[in-house]
Amino acid sequence: MSTERWIVVGGGATGAHLAHQGAKEGHQVTLLDRDPGLGGLTATETFTVNDQTFEVDRFYHVILESDERVLALLEELDLQDTVRWTSAPAEIIEEGRQYPASSLGQMATLPMLKLTDRVRIGASIAASLALPMKIADRMTAVDWLGRTAGKSALDAFWWPILRAKLGTQADKVSASFMVSTFRRLVQARLKGAGDRFGVLPEGYGPVFAALLERIEKLGGTIRTGADVSRVESDEAGVHVTLATGEELVADRVFITTPAPIASRLLPQLTSVERRRLTDAPYLGVVCGTFVLDHAPNDSYITYLIDDVGLTGVIGMHALMAPDAHGGGKLVYLPHYCASDDEWFDESDDQLRERLLSGLQQCFPQQTFQVLASSINRARHVVPLPLPGADDPLGFTTSIPGVHVVGTAQNTTGTLNVESSLELVDRALAEVRADSSTE
Ligand SMILES: Cc1cc2nc3c(=O)[nH]c(=O)nc-3n(C[C@H](O)[C@H](O)[C@H](O)COP(=O)(O)OP(=O)(O)OC[C@H]3O[C@@H](n4cnc5c(N)ncnc54)[C@H](O)[C@@H]3O)c2cc1C
Repeated sequence: MSTERWIVVGGGATGAHLAHQGAKEGHQVTLLDRDPGLGGLTATETFTVNDQTFEVDRFYHVILESDERVLALLEELDLQDTVRWTSAPAEIIEEGRQYPASSLGQMATLPMLKLTDRVRIGASIAASLALPMKIADRMTAVDWLGRTAGKSALDAFWWPILRAKLGTQADKVSASFMVSTFRRLVQARLKGAGDRFGVLPEGYGPVFAALLERIEKLGGTIRTGADVSRVESDEAGVHVTLATGEELVADRVFITTPAPIASRLLPQLTSVERRRLTDAPYLGVVCGTFVLDHAPNDSYITYLIDDVGLTGVIGMHALMAPDAHGGGKLVYLPHYCASDDEWFDESDDQLRERLLSGLQQCFPQQTFQVLASSINRARHVVPLPLPGADDPLGFTTSIPGVHVVGTAQNTTGTLNVESSLELVDRALAEVRADSSTE
């Protein structure tokens, strides 16, 4: 492909990887993000606790041993040794009582499960792994799991797990979400030592710093605080207009923002394309980051049977060195919800109170002191795969030189950086193939 001028809109994992790949191929790349820094959902924030200042992800992230592209990227950036690999214990809480749930074996022997439930849970996992995606796409996960595992195992076992992934949207997703999740976990187990998770102790910040340096070294330009308001194409090229009125021109533009934003930026999309882009509603999240004086338990993930407003308790401290974070214990309290959930409109103080009250209901015997905290909101995390949904918009639109790449094409509902990198690789392969036939 001859050298082109590329503009990449959005500097999250998708956009930064795409810009880096484009720069390596010799294109003249400009990466634009409206935020003050790169990272999007993988951006970090700074806390100071007991005189120690440190960075953590605004939203928690772990790496699986099957995340080949993420691991290859870390190796390319010379950051592979910074990953801390450790086993990730899990627990389930019902009415203030804690039960270990680190393995399927432990989960299948939870006291609230009858013997028949245990057998049927095993059968539902086997059936899900064998279920063709085309059939899984047609029904909800709740219908499928109710049918294969039975109502009692659904209520006592599958429902808390679904809620830990999808919050208030758990009853809507198609069975393909379960199938993809099981396959990802089975793949991780086949690749590695079982329940080991990798974590970047300083979050994704060093990854974006290294990407930024490489892109600039290859002649690319990175502009943060660059809020794109419109992208239109004509004979002169693709015109990118910023909220300030400034206009940039490129041969090719890649929009990596969530689909509802991509739709707003592209007035020239056909109505069919717009429908395919915006059909699937997005899952959103309100998430509190708390550094506590002590850990509520030793688990990385705590599933909750009772509805206390939280989707689960994410004990990131369980994966970190004991002396990290000024001796405090890093815990994330997420509430996954629809992108128009009323929680988004509440103040940080209200949300902090709601989330901490949820934590207190889970661990009624403990009193927590908050050493540092913040509240983060993301209305558009990933599209929810709904039963019977159409195929999403392809990477190449009808607008000459304009591509949409990112969560817009995520049809599984599973949240991971690996799938963002995979989408970029697939999109660029398509662009290269199209250019060679032009
Ligand atoms: C709570 C939570 C937990 C997660 N846990 C994990 C995990 O454990 N492991 C894992 O691998 N993944 C995890 N993920 C998923 C991972 O964070 C995402 O899959 C990935 O970051 C998506 O990257 P993206 O670049 O596609 O999207 P985004 O990060 O959303 O990037 C889009 C970018 O576009 C920019 N933008 C938007 N509008 C404009 C505009 N008009 N002009 C210019 N720029 C614009 C935004 O500022 C943003 O930087 C998690 C996500 C969340 C929210």
